[in-house]
Amino acid sequence: MTMYGQGILRGLTITLRHLVRTYFNDMRYMGKKYFNQSEFELRQGMKTEGIYTVQYPEEKIAVPERFRFTPFLVVEDADHPERPGEDWCTSCGICAKVCPPQCIWIVRGEDPVTKRPIPEPQAFYIDIDICMNCGYCAEFCPFDAIKMDHDYEMASYDRTTAHIHDKEKLSKPFSYWLNIAPTTANEEAEARGSWEHSDTVKSKKKAGVPSVAYTPTTDPSQVMQMIRATMPEPAPAAEAAPTAERSAAAVAQAGPSAEDALKAERLRKRQEALARKLSKEAGSQ
Ligand code: SF4
Ligand code: SF4
Repeated sequence: MTMYGQGILRGLTITLRHLVRTYFNDMRYMGKKYFNQSEFELRQGMKTEGIYTVQYPEEKIAVPERFRFTPFLVVEDADHPERPGEDWCTSCGICAKVCPPQCIWIVRGEDPVTKRPIPEPQAFYIDIDICMNCGYCAEFCPFDAIKMDHDYEMASYDRTTAHIHDKEKLSKPFSYWLNIAPTTANEEAEARGSWEHSDTVKSKKKAGVPSVAYTPTTDPSQVMQMIRATMPEPAPAAEAAPTAERSAAAVAQAGPSAEDALKAERLRKRQEALARKLSKEAGSQ
């Protein structure tokens, strides 16, 4: 019993110490750490002491580098001199095989003339409502082509297809990965021997061609520009509004929207892919 009492006292002392430090820390920064953006960064760093509240969503704590939410696909930067915007994914299917809840769906690309398979995905879907953020896909990908994102604000009023991310929505430039996880991205580049895709590195080595002199940008505003340039068009304001705020009459009046057309197109592609898979399976039996 005495033992439990000591534990409680020790816990309370720690809380009290943090509380007192809050006031000393406030005096040190003259209260600025609550109002000034640059001082806000102090609150996220190792220098801060005490207890404080973050005014979410106006303020957001920076997530640690190893934080993982849903996966995204790495594509070359738009300013890459040889392969701008090209996929790193070779459509090998390993990530889909290892995914525990089986929420990855890939359709392998094919040569339009010979119809032979080519190492790039024609379609790539992840149902992020089913994804359990385990990171296995990123861990097992032999080409560093799928990574875990830091974007955790994905709530939506749409219960249909908003959370089935297609290739367009999943793709983000390599520089984005370098910006959110510089340590890992640098280690991986060191292991590959270049900023380039491992297949490109190997084929250039084989042919004796020098690696391209290219360094991805670490400027976040340039990265965001690249992301915006590759993202699908945002839905019109009326469609983006919460469902509860949209009356049935207003929806009926608006008719089929761009967002609906986009959803329909995604579903159509998915259905086509499913039909192809089923017919292939039927043929192999
Ligand atoms: S494991 Fe990597 S390269 Fe293979 S399909 Fe998945 S993302 Fe693409
Ligand atoms: S993070 Fe885990 S659950 Fe999510 S897609 Fe990757 S392997 Fe599947």
